[in-house]
Amino acid sequence: MEIFEIKKPEEKRKKARALLLFSGGLDSILAGKLLEEQDVEIVALTFRSQFFGAGQAIRLAGELGWPLVLVDISPEQIEIVENPRYGYGRQLNPCIDCHGQMVRIAGELLERYQADFVATGEVVGERPKSQNRQALGLVEKLSGIKGLVLRPLSARLLPATIPEEKGLVDRNRLLDIFGRYRKKQLELAERYGLKEYPTPAGGCLLTDPGFAARARQLMKWRGKLWPGDIELIKTGRVFFEPDGLIVVGRDERENEKIAAIAGKTDILVTTAGVKGPLAAVRLKEVSPLVADGVVKISSSHDASVNRAGEDWSDSLAGSGPGPYHDQEGAGIGRGAELARMVRQIQDGMIRPEKSGPGSVGAGIASLSVVRKACLLVIRYSRRARDKERASAAVIHRGLVFELEFQQADWGKYL
Ligand code: SF4
Repeated sequence: MEIFEIKKPEEKRKKARALLLFSGGLDSILAGKLLEEQDVEIVALTFRSQFFGAGQAIRLAGELGWPLVLVDISPEQIEIVENPRYGYGRQLNPCIDCHGQMVRIAGELLERYQADFVATGEVVGERPKSQNRQALGLVEKLSGIKGLVLRPLSARLLPATIPEEKGLVDRNRLLDIFGRYRKKQLELAERYGLKEYPTPAGGCLLTDPGFAARARQLMKWRGKLWPGDIELIKTGRVFFEPDGLIVVGRDERENEKIAAIAGKTDILVTTAGVKGPLAAVRLKEVSPLVADGVVKISSSHDASVNRAGEDWSDSLAGSGPGPYHDQEGAGIGRGAELARMVRQIQDGMIRPEKSGPGSVGAGIASLSVVRKACLLVIRYSRRARDKERASAAVIHRGLVFELEFQQADWGKYL
């Protein structure tokens, strides 16, 4: 967990301060506004992870003038996705556990930010699985701060909380909103002069059916969720093979993204001499051929390899392990340069070496997942797939070599 004080809260000046779980959605804005009417100071607490961002919350907290603390919960959320105590929603979203964790973290930060209680924009009955009375109770139980979680929009439907009992907040001025019908919230928004109605939890990838299906396959294939793998399957067409994962870009933008997130042990494949996709191959087990061994092999085959003027194995190394890096700590690095190199290969400005028997290229090409990636980039290139013969370029650790195929080879993928 990493904490960033986007707008640092000042010393507490009023009788009460709330740490408000702030998604940037309308409900959390209204919860804060209702408390402000009672002279409660607001410190907004927002979260982000590999599955959702915080851009909307940061922008809106700025517009509302609230101090904002951002917490990155990527590793913690991955653990919950792998092993949720209260199961998933419709897709791979473990909302009860996830929300419980957010409230627990808020509880741990109460003292640090001189706050008296945690507030959320939850509404009883708004979401059938994660916002019914029982689920709200579970969230509070998971959070470990019983009595300190106030839901201003539905407070009068719930047991009185400690801040209400202490008189920090007047329960009679809180609301009793129930259900999915948002008429009351829209009326409040008008009363407060809010022009935007952002959707709550919008953008959590775990609720997206396509991403959820890929992430489920990834958990089955790898046995767990690697942060670097998660980044890779956010893009392009994804294929899970027994020995490796292939991601194929669908357009120039996705090619660039793949080039940016490829790790140093990933093998990149593209079309040679014609426009086409870029694919990244991530082996399940990194073989010596692909890791250290290739360096030794390449130095004994200097005459047969094209280094394209640079050793990419070093230039791709990132600044160390983190949520957006692969398992070896390689990462974003100089993706733009790699993307340019890919374009030059496609335009024929860099000519890959033929990989003869016994060469490094032949060794890497013997991996069935690399061969499949070659056939896929040809299959998805309109210019390459109609030819009798077409070539794929394989880029790995500064080596660029060519593999030639016949239509019958990629025909089975058409
Ligand atoms: S939608 Fe995503 S971020 Fe929100 S509670 Fe559910 S799992 Fe967590």
